Amino acid sequence: MDVVFSEAHAHHAPREFLLRGNFAPMAETVERAENLVRAARDMGHRVTAPDDWGMAPLAAVHSVEYLEFLETGHRRWMELPGANPEIHPHAFPGRHMRTRPESIAGQVGYHIGDLSAPMVAGTWPAALASAHAAVQATELVLTGAPVAYALCRPPGHHAFADQAAGFCFVNNVAVAAQHARGKAGRVAILDVDVHHGNGTQGIFYDRSDVFFCSLHGDPGSFYPYFAGYRAESGAGAGTGYTLNLPLAHGTADADYLVALDRAIAAIRRFDPDVLLISLGFDAYEKDPLGVLRISTDGFAEIARRIAAIGRPTVLVQEGGYHVGDLGRNLQSFLGAYEATIGAGPRGG
Ligand SMILES: [Zn+2]
Repeated sequence: MDVVFSEAHAHHAPREFLLRGNFAPMAETVERAENLVRAARDMGHRVTAPDDWGMAPLAAVHSVEYLEFLETGHRRWMELPGANPEIHPHAFPGRHMRTRPESIAGQVGYHIGDLSAPMVAGTWPAALASAHAAVQATELVLTGAPVAYALCRPPGHHAFADQAAGFCFVNNVAVAAQHARGKAGRVAILDVDVHHGNGTQGIFYDRSDVFFCSLHGDPGSFYPYFAGYRAESGAGAGTGYTLNLPLAHGTADADYLVALDRAIAAIRRFDPDVLLISLGFDAYEKDPLGVLRISTDGFAEIARRIAAIGRPTVLVQEGGYHVGDLGRNLQSFLGAYEATIGAGPRGG
């Protein structure tokens, strides 16, 4: 299948993020994407760089002021005396304050939701190219490919319309879904990353034209903590168009697949014209940040069941932090997907 990937991701290489009160080495690394693209090439997939789609597809889901912050924020931050070249905010609006301040020192806390989204000088060009990869893969599917893979880095599903968080800046899958909506009727997003896709949910929560479904580790004691519960099912016109299936920590292949079948049944009922997958590999049994126990063969079975839905599908890379095994988990997924739809590595 076609793999869309931009080398620009390497501009985004922060050193550290906050983990249990300590600054730990950044888990969302350049090596992740290098491992994934090497694995895709080794399978014979065609890897191409995205075109420049400009700002319009991003502005269709993100606020203009947020995009301006992403584009200019780091330069403004570096004008502060003694500023660390990695942005880590020190104050957040929380639940009780709403005003967006004029200063960059305040805006970093307004637009960055937590201490796991360090922003560096190269974050914006990387995030922009990552979103363009998602748009390009979607365009391939809209013009006839049965499936395409956007190898996005940085990932996107924790980014809200006006807020970065959890290694994410631009919500790639949301940008792709909105791009698909411009040319297709109904769009469904299935998020199989181990973390709840809180940003994606937030962007589409009150809409009935984009169905969002997420399987993830129970957020009661796991990131992102404040969303991803069963009772969250959409609001207003979107009531009933969000489905959350939180899973007990330690859930392995067999029980995961039961929940996946429930998600797939809901997607079939929604009857989408285009399906997008937020494809994280951090549900993997050895993932250092994960809480589930999906095996490499488990990812193949997940792929078979998704492929059997039989809809034009865009795979959008999200998390996955066991760098050494990322490539073989991707190969397991893509190989099983293509075998199910009857395409070879270069087919479609
Ligand atoms: Zn994740």
